Amino acid sequence: AKQKALATAQQPAITRDGKPIPILANISGIADAKVALNLGAEGVGVMRTEFLYLDRTIAPSEEEQLAVYQAIAQLMDTRPFIIRTLDVGGDKPVPYLGLSPETNPFLGWRGIRFCLDRTDIFKTQLRAILRASPGHKIKIMFPMISTVAEVRQAKAILAEVQSELRQANIPFDEAMEVGIMVEVPSAAAIADRLASEVNFFSLGTNDLSQYVMACDRTNAKVAALADALHPAVLRTIQQTVQAAREAGIWVGLCGELAADPLAVPILLGLGIDELSLNPQKIGEVKGAIAQITITEAQAIAQAALKLDSAASVRELVAASLGNNN
Ligand code: PEP
Ligand code: MG
Repeated sequence: AKQKALATAQQPAITRDGKPIPILANISGIADAKVALNLGAEGVGVMRTEFLYLDRTIAPSEEEQLAVYQAIAQLMDTRPFIIRTLDVGGDKPVPYLGLSPETNPFLGWRGIRFCLDRTDIFKTQLRAILRASPGHKIKIMFPMISTVAEVRQAKAILAEVQSELRQANIPFDEAMEVGIMVEVPSAAAIADRLASEVNFFSLGTNDLSQYVMACDRTNAKVAALADALHPAVLRTIQQTVQAAREAGIWVGLCGELAADPLAVPILLGLGIDELSLNPQKIGEVKGAIAQITITEAQAIAQAALKLDSAASVRELVAASLGNNN
């Protein structure tokens, strides 16, 4: 069975009715990237770059970051490689960046909010990402976006860095795609406005669930409430996918939910184009995709949206899959 799972993992994921679903990996560094390819990843759906900044006393230099991005880009060759810009704060404090304890860290100075204030740190990272891009399919992604103004500001800084590189005759991929994480309820609510600003969305259901359910994902007393399969969360996913469809951009999902085989029918049914997950789960998720048709998935998703709880959603999916076998 283990060998069969490994064989499945190396093949592209295709639904029973023939729709290919790209399966990418969530990684934090070079070692993960190698493992991900061995386990059947078709690219990197999110590199959590904050790991380059943790456990040190100063921020990584442009050259240091460039070396890491280049090494991973080389491994990925022309496969997609989505680099998420620094997402510190919240549960990821970094003392030398001046991130002091906050009363509500998850509602505080984190992700893009930090980067738009610390443009020195932000621009250094953007330069490194751009310099790694020639000959590869690197895409850039901004985390924790909650307003249109933030996206425009981030894009303006990116344009500034691009123009500086052009002036210095330093090559970069001029066609590089720019996307955002949709992981804050306000972003889902105005997804139609945000969609015209970017090339893609990636749903971050770890944060989206805790914000939709008003529930700290690190507090054991309430963490179970932040269930990404709760219909309240599924409805925000649906709203986001619909806005992306109407704007003609693609939408992926890179929260833990993507690694749950029971979630797969719902996500495909809601119209998610691509999944990015912990590489260890790729074989299992590809197996789940092979078992279902898009029509079946759509029926399950529509029924799930009308249920009262995450538990009922799980029962529905389990029962629906049972009926097929
Ligand atoms: C998410 O919020 O779902 C996500 C993928 O980002 P992180 O877990 O790094 O916050
Ligand atoms: Mg997140």
